[in-house]
Amino acid sequence: MIDIKNLTIKKAHESLLKGDFTVRELTETYLAEIQKKNPEINAYLEVYTDALEQADEADKRIKAGKADILTGIPFAIKDNLLIKGRIASASSKMLEKYCATYTATAVQRLVEQGAVLLGRANMDEFAMGGSTENSAYGVTKNPHDMSRVSGGSSGGSAAAVAMDGALAALGTDTGGSIRQPSSFCGTVGLKPTYGSVSRYGAIAMGSSLDQIGPITKTVEDAEIIFNVIKGADGFDSTTISDTTFAKEPYKGKKPVIGIPTAFLNQGGIDEAVLANFNESVEKFKNLGFEVKEISLPNIGYSLAVYYVLMPAEVSANMARFDGVKYGLHKDGVNMVDDYFVSRREGLGREVRRRIMLGTYVLSTGYYDAYYNKANIVRNLLREDFKKAFETVDVILTPTAPTPAFKIGSKTEDPIQMYLEDIFTVTANLVGVPALAVPSGFVEREGKQLPLGIQITAAHGREDTLFMVGKEFRSE
Ligand code: GLN
Repeated sequence: MIDIKNLTIKKAHESLLKGDFTVRELTETYLAEIQKKNPEINAYLEVYTDALEQADEADKRIKAGKADILTGIPFAIKDNLLIKGRIASASSKMLEKYCATYTATAVQRLVEQGAVLLGRANMDEFAMGGSTENSAYGVTKNPHDMSRVSGGSSGGSAAAVAMDGALAALGTDTGGSIRQPSSFCGTVGLKPTYGSVSRYGAIAMGSSLDQIGPITKTVEDAEIIFNVIKGADGFDSTTISDTTFAKEPYKGKKPVIGIPTAFLNQGGIDEAVLANFNESVEKFKNLGFEVKEISLPNIGYSLAVYYVLMPAEVSANMARFDGVKYGLHKDGVNMVDDYFVSRREGLGREVRRRIMLGTYVLSTGYYDAYYNKANIVRNLLREDFKKAFETVDVILTPTAPTPAFKIGSKTEDPIQMYLEDIFTVTANLVGVPALAVPSGFVEREGKQLPLGIQITAAHGREDTLFMVGKEFRSE
């Protein structure tokens, strides 16, 4: 029996090299777990039938002495990342039968190392949402409490890892979609610096905000995956190389932690979340970190700015789903009606809401009032962070304002759902990296619900995030 509960990438890699178990055995263990739990949790939309064949290839590679760190490591892949020859539906009816013709660079880099792709993970349709309730294929339940959501939009990826249905997963994050489900499911999630991981082959949501990143059980595992998937890519002109940002070493000093106290005292944060956050701050102090109060004058506008800019980009990116070139096609009474009928039937309510909002903020007369103004404030936010990082190395907040909420409790009120993103959207607007780390539990109705803290660093300073995250988790 392989103890997958306590398994990490590092441990699995060592065991595979030593011959404690084979990739086939490891993969079989995960497949059995998926078979047992997925019918209820719905983390996977599809489990690949060739997983064991991939495993055998990885075993051959290990036998030949050619193992890399991810050889034989079983992954769940979010349903908006393309894998050649496989379906990528973005959890939408629009792409229900869409089969990818090429592979996303980030996935390709896993494949080149011999990782085992177990299947595609559920998500909010086109990554729009924070609970996976917007999936056209049903909600993903939280493995810690089946009456609650797993978060979103990468809820399937986080739940897959949390239920031991994968050792790690890839997700995407436009405004928190890797970090918030990680917080809800008790996993580690990294939203990398904008441009550090290629977006080639990720179905676009908001192109100036999207990043692909890992969801794992430990900070070290997130670091391992980030080091494999990052780096310049000729297929994504916004990618940067490792040398883009100066990295001053800490030379034995610990990074200084900043807390945006005024922002945290504005109200609206669950009491248990706040108490847990304060405990986490104490823990950092006890570990010898210097903690400072900082001010981010414009952070209160983040959510509003995000919910103007993101729909604007969404409306542009979604224009390609017209029912003609690919995806669902439905006949209307004439050609123009074809577009309406295909989009009405292919796209869910939240996606259509965002297309309309985005089209509105970009339209003549409103462009200056909304889109332009939001862009100006986005620049002010960049300045706020630049200033803050002159005095501190990382910024600490909770990851989400609440623990995992009940299925159905926010679906009638989009604003309530959007408020869940209060702490996460800023990193995407500014482009800086942010790491979600589990920080404890709160008991609700007899169930232990995970809580999380978010550590944010300056552009290119994932190394600082990993350093601070590992110390916090005693890794
Ligand atoms: N929950 C946020 C939203 O609904 C973030 C989504 C994401 O990061 N893809 O937009």
